[in-house]
Amino acid sequence: MYIVTVDTSKCDGDGKCADVCPQGVFEMQDGKSNPVNTDECIFCESCLAECPTGAITITEQ
Ligand code: SF4
Repeated sequence: MYIVTVDTSKCDGDGKCADVCPQGVFEMQDGKSNPVNTDECIFCESCLAECPTGAITITEQ
């Protein structure tokens, strides 16, 4: 199981993570990405590749 977190101080709200995630992990809320379905992450790394600010961290639990 993976834990996805977004550093909102780094998130620029471009929404690319929400666009590319095949699992629907992210929802945009108030201009920031919020990983609301972190349990669904399959660690495809698409969001990590797309995020221009390095705001996303994924750890295995
Ligand atoms: S690693 Fe893949 S499945 Fe996990 S949050 Fe990022 S885009 Fe979604």
